[in-house]
Amino acid sequence: MIEFNDLKAQYRSVKASVDARIQAVLDHGQYIMGPEVAELEGKLAAYTGAKHCIGVASGTEALLIALMALGIGRGDEVITTSATFVATVEVIALVGATPVFVDIDPATSTIDPQAVKAAIGDKTRAIIAVSLYGQCADMDTLNAMAAPRGIAVIEDGAQSFGSTYKGRRSGNTCAIGCTSFFPAKPLGCYGDGGAIFCHDDALAQVCREIRIHGQSRRFHHTRVGVGGRLDTIQAAVLLAKLEIFDDEIARRQAFGARYLAAFAGHNLLELPMISADRTSVWGYFALKSPNRAAILDALAAAGVPSGVHYPEPMHLQPAYKDKCRVAGSMTETDRWSAQVFSLPMHAYLTDDVQDRVIAAVLAGAGSA
Ligand SMILES: *Cc1c(COP(=O)(O)O)cnc(C)c1O
Repeated sequence: MIEFNDLKAQYRSVKASVDARIQAVLDHGQYIMGPEVAELEGKLAAYTGAKHCIGVASGTEALLIALMALGIGRGDEVITTSATFVATVEVIALVGATPVFVDIDPATSTIDPQAVKAAIGDKTRAIIAVSLYGQCADMDTLNAMAAPRGIAVIEDGAQSFGSTYKGRRSGNTCAIGCTSFFPAKPLGCYGDGGAIFCHDDALAQVCREIRIHGQSRRFHHTRVGVGGRLDTIQAAVLLAKLEIFDDEIARRQAFGARYLAAFAGHNLLELPMISADRTSVWGYFALKSPNRAAILDALAAAGVPSGVHYPEPMHLQPAYKDKCRVAGSMTETDRWSAQVFSLPMHAYLTDDVQDRVIAAVLAGAGSA
């Protein structure tokens, strides 16, 4: 059976190390904020080059804590992309701010900096750039436009941990980086988990306090917080998986390159473009086609799992359509949601399996 993301094969390859790490937690019994959490934070900070890493309960919690730490709330606007998973937008609404949606760059499916520039106004407090499918957005253009105006740039790097932007790791591309360790993400644990990255000491301290009910010391609450800790057992799993992570990224990138080569030049398949100053960890291998329905049928008939990430953009979702502002045209976002689909992508693919996926896509896409 072909897996969309083969977590069982991954576990087999890292079992001894994961089992030993989990057993160590069971032996010491510090399930909440045990030593593995700090060990992981140190390793992830070193990995990304960010000064601080704060382990949290999920990617959603990372984004929520980041917005809370920046003091963003009612009356504020946060510019972001509608081409994302709902969590990016949900947190903006949760703090009481207004999501402002701008269009994407069709080549990378990431936020279009020129559209951001046109949308900036007096109420703009932050920009959330999503590193969709594993590739960062044009972060330095966003950073340069935000800095003189006192606007914070946040990276939603839930799909991109391990990728690089101008040699910097995802998470270390702007004022605050957020990521997710949901099992299916490039670096995943065996439950929920996430992390926040930043350089600013004061901001890191505020995030640490918000993570644990806004406390500066036990039972003393200096600010409103959340129950947002990362479990010790999940940190232990991540420490084990981190040992094979770079190797897994290399394998994902080789399979990504193979997909790109197989589909190159097909006029009914629009391939993802990886910008020359970036790498992708292929959180998803997503491409577009006007023949999506036929391709998905051909994949299903061949027993190949596929996905659509995502079928309905956020500016049209019932929960957000009346609570957001749409700034400018959404032509590319609308076309993206109508045409995009994703193929099996993980480090445990084989050339043979990938060839079956490729054949089904080409059969469904029709003649070039
Ligand atoms: C997965 C994801 C999140 C949320 O992460 P969780 O750990 O599931 O809360 C946020 N943003 C994007 C783009 C994601 O893909």
